[in-house]
Amino acid sequence: MSDGANPTGFAAKRTATGTLDTIWLDGEFVDWEDAQTHVLTHALHYGTSVFGGARCYETTDGPALFRWDDHCRRLYESAAVYGMELPYEPDTLTEATVELIRRQDLASCYVRPIAFFGYDRLGVSPTRPTELPVRVAIACWPWDAYLGERALEAGIDVTVSSWRKYDTDRIPATAKTGGPYVNGVLATDEAGRDGYDEAIMLNGRGAVAEGPGENVFLVRDGEVFTPALSAGALAGITRRSVCRLARDLGYPVHENASIGRGELYTADELFFTGTAAEVTPIRTVDGIPVGPGRPGPITTEIQSRFFDVVERRTDDYAEWFTVVE
Ligand code: PMP
Repeated sequence: MSDGANPTGFAAKRTATGTLDTIWLDGEFVDWEDAQTHVLTHALHYGTSVFGGARCYETTDGPALFRWDDHCRRLYESAAVYGMELPYEPDTLTEATVELIRRQDLASCYVRPIAFFGYDRLGVSPTRPTELPVRVAIACWPWDAYLGERALEAGIDVTVSSWRKYDTDRIPATAKTGGPYVNGVLATDEAGRDGYDEAIMLNGRGAVAEGPGENVFLVRDGEVFTPALSAGALAGITRRSVCRLARDLGYPVHENASIGRGELYTADELFFTGTAAEVTPIRTVDGIPVGPGRPGPITTEIQSRFFDVVERRTDDYAEWFTVVE
């Protein structure tokens, strides 16, 4: 399919917005077409990139980045795992992002910062005998509900993947690293081929870890559970935010839970969280209805509170926002 025919493709997005023309690359604002890298880039061969994904919401104060500082911190922490030193301070990335949103006149958007080992030689180590150049880019674009607008309302159908999430003694799951995403690629595509909207992955011990691009939450008897990071879950920023919102709404929250596969089938409610997925209810697992098979009351309450907060219909949690003046 040509990109022009694909409404999710960048060409179509650029045509639709008419303003998407700039990417920040290695300290400079460059034309969209000029944000390129060599085919012998280390990260292209060995997956040695770390990346982030944040959202900027349209609010009455103008566009506002949601928990940007936390996303930035996770990017630097992910890089540190691989001995990658970003040649820019976090403030530089923040200023670049704000300027990208302003210049391209974006009321709301998704923001993708990425740092990667670049071009000089191949060979597995990016740091020995010398550190390869570290390149950094930031791009923004409008991105609607990741799993579709209907998914937010009606919920989605998921399956437990035959692909296990890699254990944290194989690859640290707390770092958001390019290469390991092939694990999620396999799970997502398998789920899609089998007619499901998304997958849930178990870890090597058979406990629930997360979705390919989402954290998972379970509600049972009025209490909220999400797998521990040691179970293979990414330290999701939406996960952390939702734990706080749920607690502030008065629900007991267990954020270091160990959840067995069977508990997915007997949950009262299940939902995914993520920057792209936001708060997406899950209505069936492997064809078995979750509760009555539609989004439950606690999921709906947390979801509506989440959107009130991120779209700034309340002054609460003001410290979570970086407003683009
Ligand atoms: N798990 C994985 C594997 C992800 O890719 C994401 C998206 N970054 C998440 C969880 C959710 O994290 P966050 O809420 O920080 O976007």
